[in-house]
Amino acid sequence: MPYFCAIILKNMSTIRKEALQTVRTRQLIQVQAPTAKISQIFGENVFDRKSMREFLAEDVYESLMACIEKGTRVDKEIAQQVATGMKNWAMSKGATHYTHWFQPLTGATAEKHDAFFSLNSDGEAIEAFGGGALVQQEPDASSFPNGGIRNTFEARGYTAWDPSSPAFLFSGPAGKTLCIPTIFVSYTGESLDYKSPLLKSIGAVEAAGVSVAQYFDKNITKVYPTLGIEQEYFLVDGTLFAARPDLMLAGRSLFGHAPARGQQLEDHYFGSIPERVHAFMVDLEYEALRLGIPLKTRHNEVAPGQFECAPLFEEINLAVDHNQLLMDLMEKIAKRHHFRVLLHEKPFAGVNGSGKHNNWSLSTNTGKNLLSPGKTPKNNLMFLTFFVNTIKAFHDYADLIRAAIASASNDHRLGANEAPPAIMSAFLGEQLSRILDEIEKGKIEHNESEVRSLMHSIKAIPEILLDNTDRNRTSPFAFTGNKFELRAVGSSANSAQAMTALNTAMAKTLTDFKAEVDKLIGDGDSRETALLTVIQKYIKQTKKIRFEGNGYGEEWRLEAEKRGLANVRTTPHALDAMMTKKAIDLYTKTGVFTKREIEARHEILLEDYIKKIQIESRIIGDMALTKIVPAAIAYQNLLVNNLKGLKELGIKAESTKGQLDLLERTSKHINTIIEKVEAMRLTRKRLNEVEHARERSIGYCDEVKPFFDEIRYHADKLELIVDDELWPLPKYRELLFIK
Ligand code: ADP
Ligand code: MG
Repeated sequence: MPYFCAIILKNMSTIRKEALQTVRTRQLIQVQAPTAKISQIFGENVFDRKSMREFLAEDVYESLMACIEKGTRVDKEIAQQVATGMKNWAMSKGATHYTHWFQPLTGATAEKHDAFFSLNSDGEAIEAFGGGALVQQEPDASSFPNGGIRNTFEARGYTAWDPSSPAFLFSGPAGKTLCIPTIFVSYTGESLDYKSPLLKSIGAVEAAGVSVAQYFDKNITKVYPTLGIEQEYFLVDGTLFAARPDLMLAGRSLFGHAPARGQQLEDHYFGSIPERVHAFMVDLEYEALRLGIPLKTRHNEVAPGQFECAPLFEEINLAVDHNQLLMDLMEKIAKRHHFRVLLHEKPFAGVNGSGKHNNWSLSTNTGKNLLSPGKTPKNNLMFLTFFVNTIKAFHDYADLIRAAIASASNDHRLGANEAPPAIMSAFLGEQLSRILDEIEKGKIEHNESEVRSLMHSIKAIPEILLDNTDRNRTSPFAFTGNKFELRAVGSSANSAQAMTALNTAMAKTLTDFKAEVDKLIGDGDSRETALLTVIQKYIKQTKKIRFEGNGYGEEWRLEAEKRGLANVRTTPHALDAMMTKKAIDLYTKTGVFTKREIEARHEILLEDYIKKIQIESRIIGDMALTKIVPAAIAYQNLLVNNLKGLKELGIKAESTKGQLDLLERTSKHINTIIEKVEAMRLTRKRLNEVEHARERSIGYCDEVKPFFDEIRYHADKLELIVDDELWPLPKYRELLFIK
């Protein structure tokens, strides 16, 4: 081989080689094992009730609490005093800046920092933070997606303080910033974020929930949704990550052959947590707890390199804020440990994807979990009421909930490797299914004696549930003893989107339920008869969505089709459900969205989808042509030189068939890749001319995306052929198994 060729070959593989060398010599980052008890550090970076009591006058504190409790506006005078108290607290902890922290529709969180520093009328430097700055800000909003709501000449958007989520301090490399949770709305009042519709949906379900709960207990004056979010994620070494443009730019690997050993041995889940990861987790938990995020559980997940953490459940608005904050924190702390966290739903083909299990329930001011059965038949009737209403809400609006979990990245996960399919079904467990079947069969209508006997049989629910240990992990919506677990939410998603849909559907269902029950009572039925009559009706109406079997199986897909359940596999089609009359009626009547807001959101989600596929498509073209093909050509040249040399020496052709075959296969793969990349580029070019976002997104889905697998197939084949020394990208086996 000529000398210059050897030089080129050496250079080509250095990035991967050096990265692997770095990983081999990694030192464990020592973390200080927290010496203090969790109870001492929990929430120390939060302007929580304890800090408020210290930094606010008693009457100010009481007024603020009353506003939070009732969900009413904080008046100017009080806001001014809260701002001063908040600033003093933050500065006492070393903060220099403040920011309105909000959740625009891009999936991440956004902030713009301002200093407390100001000049007074004499030109002297002071630290100031007024009520106005606390309550409202006007970030330069033109860069956030708005779906046509904000015209370019009217780029104003406002952030407004959400007092129900406490302010907190976030530490950066150069100091601390006071972060104030806010909603983000346009100048004309339309919501441009995830939080404002979530808050509206909470209001709707609270009101409807109280009115129904009052059938059972007049002391219930507040009903609120609770949420516990289990977060799955992958960790990869930071240096290997940096050697993979696909991980860096798309958050997932777009190439990579499955390793000989993946997750088949299923030894990762119960294996011990690798030391480096353990250090990361301890660090993460420490920072999270100080921010008031009640992390409780940590463990390995099924795939190598995959992990999970879960907090104690909280009031839903707080749980969502905390999950968003947690994701920021994970990224920050992962870097500290020379890791990168992958929150993508499917970072690696062929192994498990990551989800965000949303455990949802309803609680009351009396401390009752409405999805937890009680000790008396009356309490159990309350449980059954909320339980069956949840099933009904999920049944009636399954397509809307499917739309709310749709994203380009979640499309890869739903229905693949141990993730719930795109078919929305609910799992109740054998015992509860049997009780519902029993109620379904009863001759309840205007029949007090049948109702009495049924009331007797539902007395047994609590004992039954206690030893009801059957868990179905294949269902997108599973009842798990005292809550429903929506397992279809993607790991990178903002949970607010799915939770807004679920809360709103529940609000509507409970409102209709109440109207039906009241009518029967008005017609002379007893309360119990009326309740059970409507419950029975709902049980009958929702039967098709109940499924207790294996949700991953092909049989379920066929069975679901027979039942008429939708199985919408891709985002552009799933999003159609947002624009139906039913969806628009639901959202507008409950006051959660206006029609214009829904249209804007639909547009934003489609555009987001297109952009994601477009970016991935470009990365694939780029990596294929500038990394994979050159490596393969270098190998091809090696083979050519080798064959030529052998021939010169007079070696017979039949003794070099193997090399020739390798050469032919290598050439074929290279050629196909080059052709497909060009065809993909032309397809993109054509589709970019399509005016309507929906059509364009379907084009990207049906015409561009299929190229990904085709190109990858050939590239991954090359990975198996080309000299390992020449291969430029860290391989799956190097990425997935953390030392
Ligand atoms: P799993 O077996 O699914 O891991 P866990 O008992 O660990 O279940 O709980 C998972 C999540 O469910 C946790 O975040 C927990 O706080 C949450 N959770 C428990 N009870 C409720 C509830 N009443 N409302 C909302 N979430 C809840
Ligand atoms: Mg769970």
